Amino acid sequence: MAIEFDQVSKRYPDGTLAVDDLTLTAPSGAITVFVGPSGCGKTTSLRMINRMVDPTSGAIRIDGVDVTAQPAAQLRRRIGYVIQHAGLFPHRTVVDNVATVPVLEGVSRAEARKRAYELLERVGLSAALAERYPAQLSGGQQQRVGVARALAADPPVMLMDEPFSAVDPVVRESLQAEFLRLQGELGKTIVMVTHDIDEAIKLGDHVAVFAEGGRLAQVATPEQLLAAPADDFVAGFVGRDRGYRGLSFATAAELSVEPAGTEVAGLTLVVDDGRPVGWRDGTGRVLASAGAFTAADTLRAAADLALLSPAGAAVRVGADGRVDGIVRHAAIAEVIRRRQVERIAVEGAGADDRSDVEGSSELGERVSGA
Ligand code: ADP
Ligand code: MG
Repeated sequence: MAIEFDQVSKRYPDGTLAVDDLTLTAPSGAITVFVGPSGCGKTTSLRMINRMVDPTSGAIRIDGVDVTAQPAAQLRRRIGYVIQHAGLFPHRTVVDNVATVPVLEGVSRAEARKRAYELLERVGLSAALAERYPAQLSGGQQQRVGVARALAADPPVMLMDEPFSAVDPVVRESLQAEFLRLQGELGKTIVMVTHDIDEAIKLGDHVAVFAEGGRLAQVATPEQLLAAPADDFVAGFVGRDRGYRGLSFATAAELSVEPAGTEVAGLTLVVDDGRPVGWRDGTGRVLASAGAFTAADTLRAAADLALLSPAGAAVRVGADGRVDGIVRHAAIAEVIRRRQVERIAVEGAGADDRSDVEGSSELGERVSGA
């Protein structure tokens, strides 16, 4: 269920050009995030997929079929839609909110309610909340109901417009984590809108950065976006600390470790039955270890552990939890520095063929087509 925008523009009747010649593909079974500052055409682009907004020119195809080839109502049956404030029916209970669409589609009420209970559990809501009204739930719980409701008809495509923006940061983190877990099970084709670049990087398999005037500035994987922003706008939007953020994608496997018995800053690692305990100083005192990383962790996790360690060195363990070496902060810093040099080299080399928007959308198509 890939979604394809082919030279799509939208000009509202008042003359506002909301989307300017958008060409990109949201691949099947993946999360594509539209991110950018307010007013740059993200919502308009999203709503053109399920025909809540009609393009002025260009075409949108789902699995190669133009969205206008069938009645909008029929199209929307295959497309779940989640919005910021959940958009729940205030006078229906939680379970009835989730069961409404299946019932409209002819599923018996008993069957639809049974399935609604299952879905509520799937999105992390207890059955005890099912008979409440939306106003009796927290914002985060309402948002979960919104997701359950969008999933009720089991649509292959989900559109989500700022689904996690209205809740506080702690709730947002848990909603994001559960959303990723759920998507791991469901594998829907998802297009999500957010103005939050961190959320885009965290959730997106592909991230499309929109700029003022409804222009697509770049579409790429999060890692590519951080490593090689297409232009100054994208570089500014992803942030100056992107080198550090990029560490989240580099794996700790590329670090080479020293033997676990190596003395570092006067401290030696204490190991019990292969497991790290702490760091012993010259007087025999043992200082707590900051924890350990595995080769599957990120470079960022390893760097954090080294910074927190009394020895300034992080401990690596194997999958069995046993120590297989240590790595000093300086060594991690060196790997980071090398990656940054490589990134600058990539930016420099790519500058010529990325000097215009077309160049960057070509990059995007290559990425999306992968
Ligand atoms: P975003 O979701 O990125 O914040 P929108 O797609 O909502 O952006 O809006 C893009 C531009 O189109 C903005 O300038 C907005 O004011 C304008 N716009 C959105 N909806 C309408 C509308 N119904 N009529 C006129 N202009 C609109
Ligand atoms: Mg919007």
